[in-house]
Amino acid sequence: MADINGKMHAQAILDEVRAAGKKCKLAVVLVGDNPASIVYINMKKKACEQVGFDFELFKLPEDSPQSEVLALIDKINDDDGITGAIIQQPFPAHLNKGEILERLSPKKDVDCLHPQNVGLAVSGTGRILPCTPAGCIKLLKREGISIAGKRAVVVGRSDIVGKPLALMLLAEHATVTICHSRTENLAEECRNADILVAAIGSPKFITADMVKRGAVVLDVGVSRLAGKKVCGDVDYESVSKIASYITPVPGGVGPMTVAVLIENCLKAWELTHG
Ligand code: NAP
Repeated sequence: MADINGKMHAQAILDEVRAAGKKCKLAVVLVGDNPASIVYINMKKKACEQVGFDFELFKLPEDSPQSEVLALIDKINDDDGITGAIIQQPFPAHLNKGEILERLSPKKDVDCLHPQNVGLAVSGTGRILPCTPAGCIKLLKREGISIAGKRAVVVGRSDIVGKPLALMLLAEHATVTICHSRTENLAEECRNADILVAAIGSPKFITADMVKRGAVVLDVGVSRLAGKKVCGDVDYESVSKIASYITPVPGGVGPMTVAVLIENCLKAWELTHG
């Protein structure tokens, strides 16, 4: 078994972005003060500092009306000094998520959540790519793991991870199965996988009896256990004994998500500057 060192691969991507030497600026909009969001925003800020990008956080109160959020997005769209922007999720429940995600210019949508960018990404023609799914594909490629012809099983069908990742694996010529909470015989589906991706949000859900010997296992899940210890969707201790490759949590997929975001910001700069 080999651990896939996401930290190392992410650092290599950040080094490449830094070497490109472009003066980019990432803007983050935070509505409210969700503590987990603040942790994620600080990681993005740190990555910007590492590659020499400017960073600006726009904070709005939790009870901001939709019109105020949209007005801020319009301001960001019109600001030539801002290369890329993120509207940090989760949003407060009263906001219309779809309208917000569509308001940000696709050219600045470095999270790849605008329907236009999602469409291009899953058709295999996008420049800006969904951060976590693209991070997973990059990990496989950078480790020299072939995807074409392999059976890939993705557990989870969210719009930000499972669904786009399944379509991106398909674009890489894997034979793809998507599983979710209504899947019957989930363990059996998982055991068919040459490449098994867990994007569920349920700690240690994937156990060794659900994994084929020699499978490649990507663990996207991030859960906080009591005592604040971070844990993935895969029972690392048992699964690492039979997988050929496995991503640890932390230090696997997570750092790649941030690295792809920063790379997307550079691509956004290239889209604007030709
Ligand atoms: P989500 O929107 O809650 O989706 C979870 C998916 O898992 C859903 O499709 C759900 O099925 C499925 N699921 C839940 N329980 C299941 C079960 N018992 N059996 C089979 N499928 C089940 O979550 P998400 O945004 O995709 O995130 C998933 C995990 O990845 C979370 O832990 C999140 O924190 C983490 N994450 C990590 C990164 C990173 O950079 N490492 C980035 C994003 C997310 P239904 O559709 O049927 O409900």
